[in-house]
Amino acid sequence: MAILVVGGAGYIGSHAARVLRRHGYEVFIYDNLSTGYRFLADGFDLVVGDIADSDRLAPVMRRVEAVMHFAAFAYVGESVENPRKYFQNNVNAALNLLNTAQECGVRHFVFSSTCAVYGVPAKVPIDEATPREPVNPYGASKLFFEYALEAYSRAYGMNYASLRYFNAAGADESGDIGELHNPETHLIPLALAAATEGGLPLRIFGNDYPTPDGTCIRDYIHVNDLAEAHVLALKKLMADGDSFAVNLGTGTGYSVREVMMAVEQVTGNKAAYEVAPRRAGDPPALVADASRARDLLGWKATRNLQNIVATAWNWKQRQIAKQAEAAALPKN
Ligand code: UDP
Repeated sequence: MAILVVGGAGYIGSHAARVLRRHGYEVFIYDNLSTGYRFLADGFDLVVGDIADSDRLAPVMRRVEAVMHFAAFAYVGESVENPRKYFQNNVNAALNLLNTAQECGVRHFVFSSTCAVYGVPAKVPIDEATPREPVNPYGASKLFFEYALEAYSRAYGMNYASLRYFNAAGADESGDIGELHNPETHLIPLALAAATEGGLPLRIFGNDYPTPDGTCIRDYIHVNDLAEAHVLALKKLMADGDSFAVNLGTGTGYSVREVMMAVEQVTGNKAAYEVAPRRAGDPPALVADASRARDLLGWKATRNLQNIVATAWNWKQRQIAKQAEAAALPKN
């Protein structure tokens, strides 16, 4: 069975593509390479194109039974400064993707949603009954697409899974693919950089939150655990046809300080840091209640924070070695 992984040259999409292939699916990747990397799609059929481009999308769309959609911008801060970019891509162009899928007879749609649709929840852990009240344009753009999927499934019969990720982190155990953002803003890569010779100290965004050590708490979920949830979601859609939305997290939260400790343990190095002001829009604690994903999909995260940091470190070291190799090559 053939699946189209839209945004499959990006961080989470490239992991999902590999996990799908390990489960025996035929995989096509569609990506405009604006933030993705061609090498993350190595070994796959890659169509380079934008999700706004129906003519480019339609031929590959007609060859698949399901679409997984990862092609979105995902920086909260940037979405506040440049909402136009977020609504243009995550809503406008994404609707074009959905319309093209519908016109091409795609029956199943798996969507990368986010815990940002909940905004600042009244209580943690967060379950799916929590009101969806996003507090930034990124979360609003994702919620809009959830609404579109709900309406399309009612009206046109295409079924969907909205998968609300908590903090995706870590890398494939092979070390071949991993997180590569430019600029990098995420905690774990930056904490690893701070534990690497010549790396900048980590800026801890606020140590006066109402949490045990004063730093923010998040639910870090290994990218391959996320990828495996996509496969289970797809199987569920194909088996009984009912659409659904589920949280994907571990159910355990770690503070920024605890993540730093894990980084120091894995790397064996000290991670330099300084305390900086709070980052706008950061809630004190976001932790998933992932019991619906367990009950509905039989899914549970199998990797812990230690595994997340160790695989991210392995990936980072591979990248450093590759760069050193490239620098050592004679220039002509
Ligand atoms: N964080 C931090 N310093 C950084 C990057 C992140 O203290 O340089 C904190 C951030 O405030 C949040 C947590 O780490 O509490 C996770 O942030 P990240 O940007 O990785 O993911 P987000 O939760 O924004 O999706």
